[in-house]
Amino acid sequence: MIEISGIKKSYKMGDNIVEALRDVTLTIEDGDFVAIMGPSGSGKSTLMHILGLLDVPTSGSYKLHGREVSKLSEDELAILRRDEIGFIFQQFNLLPRMPAWQNVSLPLLYSEKKFDQDKAQSLLEQVGLGTRGDHKSNELSGGQQQRVAIARSLINSPKIIFADEPTGNLDSKSEKEIMGILKSLNAQGITIVIVTHEEEIGEQANRLIRMRDGVVQSDERKVPLAQERSSNQSNQSLDSEFHFGEMIEHFHQGWKTLAANKVRSGLSMLGILIGVAAVVTMLALGKGAQQSIEKQLSSMGSNLLILRAGNVRVAGVAQESGVRIRISMDDLAAMKAQIPAIKNVVPNVGGRGQVTYLNKNWNTYVNGVTSSFVEVRNSEPVLGRFFSDAENQRRATVAVIGRTVSRELFGERSPIGEVIKINRINFTVIGMLPEKGGQGPSDQDDRIVVPVMTAMYRLFGRNYVDSVDVEVSQKELIDETQDSVKEVLNSRHRIPLSQQDDAFQIFNMADLQQAIESSSKTMSMLLSSIAAISLLVGGIGIMNIMLVSVTERTREIGLRKAIGGRKVDILMQFLAESVVVSVIGGLLGIGLAWGVTTALASVMGWPMTISLDAVGLSFFFSAFIGIVFGLYPAKKASELHPIDALRYE
Ligand code: ADP
Ligand code: MG
Repeated sequence: MIEISGIKKSYKMGDNIVEALRDVTLTIEDGDFVAIMGPSGSGKSTLMHILGLLDVPTSGSYKLHGREVSKLSEDELAILRRDEIGFIFQQFNLLPRMPAWQNVSLPLLYSEKKFDQDKAQSLLEQVGLGTRGDHKSNELSGGQQQRVAIARSLINSPKIIFADEPTGNLDSKSEKEIMGILKSLNAQGITIVIVTHEEEIGEQANRLIRMRDGVVQSDERKVPLAQERSSNQSNQSLDSEFHFGEMIEHFHQGWKTLAANKVRSGLSMLGILIGVAAVVTMLALGKGAQQSIEKQLSSMGSNLLILRAGNVRVAGVAQESGVRIRISMDDLAAMKAQIPAIKNVVPNVGGRGQVTYLNKNWNTYVNGVTSSFVEVRNSEPVLGRFFSDAENQRRATVAVIGRTVSRELFGERSPIGEVIKINRINFTVIGMLPEKGGQGPSDQDDRIVVPVMTAMYRLFGRNYVDSVDVEVSQKELIDETQDSVKEVLNSRHRIPLSQQDDAFQIFNMADLQQAIESSSKTMSMLLSSIAAISLLVGGIGIMNIMLVSVTERTREIGLRKAIGGRKVDILMQFLAESVVVSVIGGLLGIGLAWGVTTALASVMGWPMTISLDAVGLSFFFSAFIGIVFGLYPAKKASELHPIDALRYE
């Protein structure tokens, strides 16, 4: 039973206040068939919307089955709309993309959390459309569409049906059919309230209410009400909790909506796709670069100090002048003898050398070292052997060549035993160094190693070394040894106290490695954060599209709310859509990143691998972006007022 008293509804139109309903008091019994008539603008629709819980009165009381509804929350109203009321609109308000049976089934999404094709089909049969279930609504005539809308209003077995000019857009044949259906529903015990322009229809009702200027003008009963009806008190619980199972249907719906807007969905996906691809690629790239740097560093040997001579200023007769300190082989012997922590010292004499073999010519770096080089620089020859101390002492003309030199002079042939010329002196190739990597000028394999004595006295004609590799026995002793080396050398060369800091330079490989590692880490962090920004931009793109989608589908949102969708239902629907876009974009992005890294890895020769962490991270990050950036549009949609949304053009 419906009881309204003193209902007023006014609209503000700028400075004017339009009073659509001025003071309406009515009682409608269960099982009645009531027609409301009146000229256009007399407030019929306004009254129907209030009765149908689509709108709230400015003042007055409305009791539905004994429950005062003006005190209910928006969600509680949605549940009542869903479970107790069916609303039939003049404009049908079907969703055009859905087949008829899904339109009929739509309210079930909010009550039972799933579509039920069988139930929808049986209702379509009841309204004479049994064969049209699979037709989209734009493939149906007006009369057929209205019958689908009636079937929709029936799917949750409502107690009352409100119909606002249901035949207003229909021809007279369809009008008769619709009226027939409504009458038979009334015969089944459903209360019907119908607004109409047609006197003929008004005459068919049990009771006819005429309105004018927002008040009831007349109210006449034509057919007495059957009295045996029990007053059905509402005992429905208005629980509005969210069921997780709905999410699956929302995702399904979200997917379908996106599939229907392929170009737009594709474009909004593109942002996320590029963002995720960039992040994953950058992470892989950073990791690859780091690995390759680490490999090069470890190939240099650890626990290593590299000693170079510096300059000192000495006072001469007329002026001060800079003099370069020279490190001799005797210095090396003294260091090794005096500092127990030193495991090995390797002198290093180097310079450019022109290498020839038959008609082949190559300019490379020639390095004079001792046999300790093998251990200190991890350089056991991969072919042949290294030279011995004896060969060094007798200044033998033997050479161990790098991979690049070998390739230039001998191609893929073994160079062992061949005789090459270095700066016009004949050398026998006795071994090949292991590959160390590096490109262009930093190619570690573009070098030739010869005995240091040979290099000093036969190739370059000097009696001092350029630098010394000092291998320390333990990592912990590196700093200490560094100081000892300075001390020994300073005293041997009688360096004045004031200049002791500059006389010798010592590079600590451990420090160097740390510095390089931390800078490569910083670099990859930097690249990843730039990539993350593009992900953010992708997220904003999604928000943009979702906002457009919400605006474009305002009427749809209104309809969904009118048939019982709660705030949370609408929120989840739009959220699901943006999550679907982002997650698909994210997955495609991971695929793209895989392609790009594979290509880059083969071009650059880096060991680039996409880590599972990076994939997992970007997958969840893209879902997260979908939620974060979808939330605002979804919330905006969920907060639309049903009747305002339905009126939106
Ligand atoms: P009917 O359905 O009987 O033709 P309505 O109930 O639609 O009449 O409208 C009653 C009055 O309220 C009309 O004067 C109309 O202009 C006004 N009205 C209805 N809805 C709105 C609205 N959303 N904003 C402002 N005025 C409105
Ligand atoms: Mg109207």
